[in-house]
Amino acid sequence: MTTLLLDGGPVAPDAPVTRTGGTPLAPAGTAWPTCASCAAPLQFLAQIHLGDLPGPTAPTPGVLALFMCANRPGRCEQWSPTAGGNLALLLPADRLEPVPAPGEADPELLGLGAVRAAVPAPTAPATATVLGRLGGTPDWLQYDETPDCPDCARPMQFTAELTEGPDPVTAMNFGSGRAYAHTCTPCGRAAFLWQC
Ligand SMILES: [Zn+2]
Ligand SMILES: [Zn+2]
Repeated sequence: MTTLLLDGGPVAPDAPVTRTGGTPLAPAGTAWPTCASCAAPLQFLAQIHLGDLPGPTAPTPGVLALFMCANRPGRCEQWSPTAGGNLALLLPADRLEPVPAPGEADPELLGLGAVRAAVPAPTAPATATVLGRLGGTPDWLQYDETPDCPDCARPMQFTAELTEGPDPVTAMNFGSGRAYAHTCTPCGRAAFLWQC
């Protein structure tokens, strides 16, 4: 089973919904994550409420938070599930607070230029912009790149697929491709990669 994510238009930067852009929400005391390659702060891309996933295979409710390095485009292997130029966090669903931005960083490198709700829907109306998909199987643009869980070494479960979004200036940058998020809920781990 798969559920589409439709563009729901502008939403508050700290809205506790599935969205692209805005402020990341995480448990109190969470530090803004940094790039493992260049050590500068990562850019927050999106949060996905796993309760939006379809059907009996939906994982335990939680929130998937996705980050990617925007400091040195192309030089931190932002597409890789393991190089450290991006980060996917699997967080609990409740008691999340806005993560304070690192004071010295350029706001444009920390967040997207727009905040958009991503609304789950079984089918897309003719006029809707599709931002991605939840559940089902990944629609790989290249080869099957299912990551193995860094803790239990089993293949991770496909969770979400994202496209760049309708506005090329403020959207995510996947090289005009698609991004894929996987999770291992027993281990509390997530991984993110993209192909183009
Ligand atoms: Zn980097
Ligand atoms: Zn695992």
